[in-house]
Amino acid sequence: MEANNRITTDIVIVGAGIVGASIAYHSARAGASVTLIDKALPGSGATSASFAWIGKPTSVDRADASTPLRRLALEDWVRLADEVPGITISWTGSIVWSDDVMAQYGGASAEDLLNADQIAALEPELKVIPVRAQHNAADGAVDPVAVTDALGRSAQDHGAEVLTGVAVYALDVTDGKVKGLHTSMGYVGAETVIVASGADAPLLLRSWGVDLPVHPSPALLSRFVASKHLVRTILYGDTIEVRQTPDLLLVPSEFDGESSHADLAKTGARIRNDIVEAFDVDASQLHWIDTRIGMRPMPHDGMPLVGRLPNLNGVYVSVMHSGVTLAPVVGRMVANELVRDVVAGELRPLRPNRTVANLD
Ligand SMILES: Cc1cc2nc3c(=O)[nH]c(=O)nc-3n(C[C@H](O)[C@H](O)[C@H](O)COP(=O)(O)OP(=O)(O)OC[C@H]3O[C@@H](n4cnc5c(N)ncnc54)[C@H](O)[C@@H]3O)c2cc1C
Repeated sequence: MEANNRITTDIVIVGAGIVGASIAYHSARAGASVTLIDKALPGSGATSASFAWIGKPTSVDRADASTPLRRLALEDWVRLADEVPGITISWTGSIVWSDDVMAQYGGASAEDLLNADQIAALEPELKVIPVRAQHNAADGAVDPVAVTDALGRSAQDHGAEVLTGVAVYALDVTDGKVKGLHTSMGYVGAETVIVASGADAPLLLRSWGVDLPVHPSPALLSRFVASKHLVRTILYGDTIEVRQTPDLLLVPSEFDGESSHADLAKTGARIRNDIVEAFDVDASQLHWIDTRIGMRPMPHDGMPLVGRLPNLNGVYVSVMHSGVTLAPVVGRMVANELVRDVVAGELRPLRPNRTVANLD
């Protein structure tokens, strides 16, 4: 495979976030020779800042082009946790009472709604109990970096090469067909290049006239150590979104223009106050660890972009929001398509040529 600093492989994946690592695992398991490349460590992009709530569409979610794919997400998580050592899922369920979600129910009653007594029984430390809330009993959460590491290890067990600390600088394209990649460690030849580099994905393609409609969408994750077990499920109300692992209390929030570590510390302090207001806990029982910014790869229309680029033969993209939820199902489908030539109908409405400029 390797000669004079030159690797040649069936599939090279740019980006070892949870999406790229899942494609690497599934493709190597299906028999392809695979190289997975990341400029840093696996899972160090948006994946490292993810809240990592995994769920499927609810009874009131408006259907869109990604709904058929999203409906399969949890089954694929169950399968993956069975197949790959080191993946564990906390199947806690979620409780949602944000205004936008509750407005979908209007005054109607529904099987997936909880009343205040039921909410209090599930979340006894919550101080202000909503009158009603949506209960998604099947939802869960994962440690996204641990999962990415586990997928990378399993890909290696199936023969994949994982290159970390290697930046991909440019595609090598001749006569409209990709031949490989120029990287910080030399040239890597490939039949197929999969661009799974998250919010950075447009950068690699721009010099080939491809305007991938993806923008970085910053969001924050604050982490605390709590000396009390405060949260049992995943909670999402208008003032607080939170879940708790055995070690940490995790709170995602909107980016609010933070531009220094001091700003992030202020945001952490504000969120600690929000927790104190929402739960039966005092500030001394909450130790702030950090607040980090993750650049969510956000396709302009919100739908995943998964498929070949028609005018760049051999280049395939896999970029999406809710990439943690979707990584197992997308990894399986991309590998089936590229290695076994089996195309999933769920991916058809998500192809990049629906919106990508200069691709006709
Ligand atoms: C605060 C927050 C909360 C979130 N909550 C959820 C949630 O609850 N549920 C959910 O499903 N999703 C959630 N998300 C979104 C989810 O985290 C992302 O969709 C997912 O992590 C994207 O994974 P990825 O592998 O596509 O990208 P990334 O994790 O960003 O990985 C891309 C990788 O590419 C590498 N790379 C980039 N350019 C190059 C290059 N030129 N050469 C080599 N390597 C390169 C980077 O180093 C990086 O490791 C959340 C995100 C944030 C920030």
